[in-house]
Amino acid sequence: MLDCDALVIGSGPAGMIIAAALAERGVKVGGLTASPLRKVWPNTYGIWRDELEALGLTELLGHCWENCVSYFGKGKVNHGRAYGLFDNVKLQNHFLAKCETGGVEWHQGKATNIEHDCERSIVSTTAGETLRARVVIDASGHDPMFVKRQNQGVVAFQTAYGIVGHFSAPPVDPQQFVHQDFRSEHLSATERATEPPTFLYAMDFGDDVYFVEETSLAMAPPVSFELLERRLHQRLAARGVSVTEVHEVERCIFPMTLPLPDLHQPVAAFGAAASMVHPASGYMVGAMLRRSSGLAQAIATALQDPQAEPAAIARVAWQELWNPDRLRKYYLYRFGLEKLMRFDEALLKQHLDTFFSLPQSQWAGFLADRLSTPELVAAMVRLFAIAPNSLRWGLMQFPGWEKNLLWQFISLQSAKSPLAVTSKSSNVSC
Ligand SMILES: Cc1cc2nc3c(=O)[nH]c(=O)nc-3n(C[C@H](O)[C@H](O)[C@H](O)COP(=O)(O)OP(=O)(O)OC[C@H]3O[C@@H](n4cnc5c(N)ncnc54)[C@H](O)[C@@H]3O)c2cc1C
Repeated sequence: MLDCDALVIGSGPAGMIIAAALAERGVKVGGLTASPLRKVWPNTYGIWRDELEALGLTELLGHCWENCVSYFGKGKVNHGRAYGLFDNVKLQNHFLAKCETGGVEWHQGKATNIEHDCERSIVSTTAGETLRARVVIDASGHDPMFVKRQNQGVVAFQTAYGIVGHFSAPPVDPQQFVHQDFRSEHLSATERATEPPTFLYAMDFGDDVYFVEETSLAMAPPVSFELLERRLHQRLAARGVSVTEVHEVERCIFPMTLPLPDLHQPVAAFGAAASMVHPASGYMVGAMLRRSSGLAQAIATALQDPQAEPAAIARVAWQELWNPDRLRKYYLYRFGLEKLMRFDEALLKQHLDTFFSLPQSQWAGFLADRLSTPELVAAMVRLFAIAPNSLRWGLMQFPGWEKNLLWQFISLQSAKSPLAVTSKSSNVSC
């Protein structure tokens, strides 16, 4: 039977990254993986290159584009910033090697149940194993096995329909990455007025292979794959481009507005399970790479107290992941996204033109969640100041949930720490 300091559930990016970071700090780590450990992760992960440069990890990229553009209301925007896609095999092997060096003991099976006593959390698996640990870190993804979340309304999803393949003519310029192409002249007036705005995310993979993906912003209910597929073909047809060979079709859907976790539960978490997906941009891998060391250090320090019960260690982890500054920013991002979700196409394009005309340090910091709360507020105030009047008017309307989100942000300004203020203990009495 495995008995370790920290048990990580899941071997996706989050599980692998946090297991490696804990092992690097001398923590005895066990891992539980539902899928074979070396099975290549299915998703394609993109990231702005400078985020990896700051971490010294650019060698993990499989593709990189210098020519990165978007199209909003005013036409082409050159981002002046390189974007890359991870080579998933390299990314995975990088952290597997660290896990191996740190002695992480992986077990295969699906976690089915968890119980806690004063000393250990005990996880049962479909393989009939019992795994014991002083703290469990749930990294089982968007729909986590053990993490409980606060009830915070309807979840919005981003959906996308994409094709990797050959085309009758280049669908985007050779060697180009198109971050968001919101041009919609190919749609009828009725389609533009009655259907949600969508954009093209596309790139040249080289050797005449391109990836084109029609993508929605976060929407509740999600935009259907049928609509996205139709839109993609309409967009290509308007450019006189047809698909000549399909290598792969991608239909992806993922939640953008995951509710915050319950910060008092006796299980810690990381990655999508910990609601770390950026509510406005959907990105998370960069954040996991930047934040794993802080979380691992907090857990390693908490483990040094031999009397610390699982709930106490988990609480330290939640405090590190969702400290008051992070919580404040969460509500601001959600507030920003809520605004976007209500804008019509014209206002949305104005908003994006304005957002990407901010200094790069502000828009890049916003998208990567690298700004402090005052910096984030400053970026939002600046956006408001330079926005055209029609956009300002749109930003000042509060027709829905955004009022609540702003209120949550304001009320947190006066609270010291949500964990300290409403400190609850777990159900286990020790
Ligand atoms: C299609 C798609 C594209 C994305 N693109 C990007 C991007 O370009 N850039 C970016 O930064 N982010 C992106 N994201 C967001 C985010 O980075 C990913 O969702 C990422 O995969 C989340 O990592 P994770 O490890 O938390 O969860 P997952 O990748 O979902 O991994 C969870 C793991 O836990 C395992 N598991 C689940 N239940 C159990 C159980 N009971 N017991 C044991 N193991 C279990 C699963 O088998 C899986 O291996 C994307 C998400 C999706 C869905």
